[in-house]
Amino acid sequence: MESNKKITVTQPYLPPLEEFIPYLETIWGNKWLTNNGPLHEQLEKELAQYLGVKYISLFSNGTLALISALQALDIEGEVITTPFSFVATTHALWWNKITPVFVDIESDYMNLDPAKIEAAITSKTSAIMPVHVYGNPCQMDKIQEIANKYNLKVIYDAAHAFGVKKECVSVLNYGDLSVLSFHATKVYSTIEGGAVICHTPEMKHHLDNLKNFGFRGEMIVEEPGINAKLNEIQAAYGLLQLKYVDGFIEKRQAIAYQYRVLLSGIEGIRFINDMEGVTHCYSYFPILIDAEKYGETRDELYERLKTNQVFGRRYFYPLISDFEPYNSLPSADRHNLTIANRIANQVLCLPIFVDLQDSEVEFICSLISKIEKI
Ligand SMILES: *Cc1c(COP(=O)(O)O)cnc(C)c1O
Repeated sequence: MESNKKITVTQPYLPPLEEFIPYLETIWGNKWLTNNGPLHEQLEKELAQYLGVKYISLFSNGTLALISALQALDIEGEVITTPFSFVATTHALWWNKITPVFVDIESDYMNLDPAKIEAAITSKTSAIMPVHVYGNPCQMDKIQEIANKYNLKVIYDAAHAFGVKKECVSVLNYGDLSVLSFHATKVYSTIEGGAVICHTPEMKHHLDNLKNFGFRGEMIVEEPGINAKLNEIQAAYGLLQLKYVDGFIEKRQAIAYQYRVLLSGIEGIRFINDMEGVTHCYSYFPILIDAEKYGETRDELYERLKTNQVFGRRYFYPLISDFEPYNSLPSADRHNLTIANRIANQVLCLPIFVDLQDSEVEFICSLISKIEKI
């Protein structure tokens, strides 16, 4: 094992450059760079087919896709969401002048706890925005049941759940809308990019207009949309990535399995196993460190790995509810979010990416297992 090579939590997999050149030649020939170009159209079709969804509207990034999804459904007032996510989830609410209401997570998969949603519903609640955190599906049936009972919309932040299926059905088909991110750090990437998945051609049309300033045709602006278009170069990159993505996911699965074998039996270290009936995408490999049993805190382990050139990330610490713009909200109170707080202090995401070597996984696990047990 080379000791001076940095191992980061993730690393993009760039396709062979010579395979990208013909796409660029096509774009140069078309002289069409953005605004729903031919490669953009092709990518929407191929992604819908690959993912097993009906309608998909591409966006320039996942955050603008989330913001536009909320706008498309006229969501206002309060929205119930999780504090255990990337900050963009809640920022999307802020940009729509919506008040986030944080509800605690469950400890098995760290997703929004359906049992705690109802108590947070008020007359101002208009939607629930859960996250399939680390790509593990939320309890979608229970969430939908509550949404139906109170007439609420459901918008899933599915940024971690590319290709994830439950009983052979894409999780993206649940709820009113689902949102993907194709950022360079995600399982599938268009460098920067994102998408909203919807159920009707009318909604797709609405989303297509919203990402193009709200234009309908040449002369009519129906609402104040934004510029969130994915360009032809990104679409080309996405088409090429799509040819490789099954291989990416297989490689990630092999790494996750290797971690599970090597980390099992270490006292005080917990990881998440595959869920029954779920096809996973292995976007992250989080472990939870129980400091008392393990003999070292999460932060101590994080630092020790760093001194050995292993750069894990403490996703998601701090909680979104602890960040400045949100920490004075009543629902940000720690007593309201006890499980999220506990997990945020225990979690560490280990490196997982296509080019990660078996020997590197072994090295990381040997560092983790070296500690003396109490
Ligand atoms: C990456 C991510 C986003 C934001 O996506 P961008 O494409 O980077 O704007 C939103 N939510 C979650 C949970 C994410 O991980």
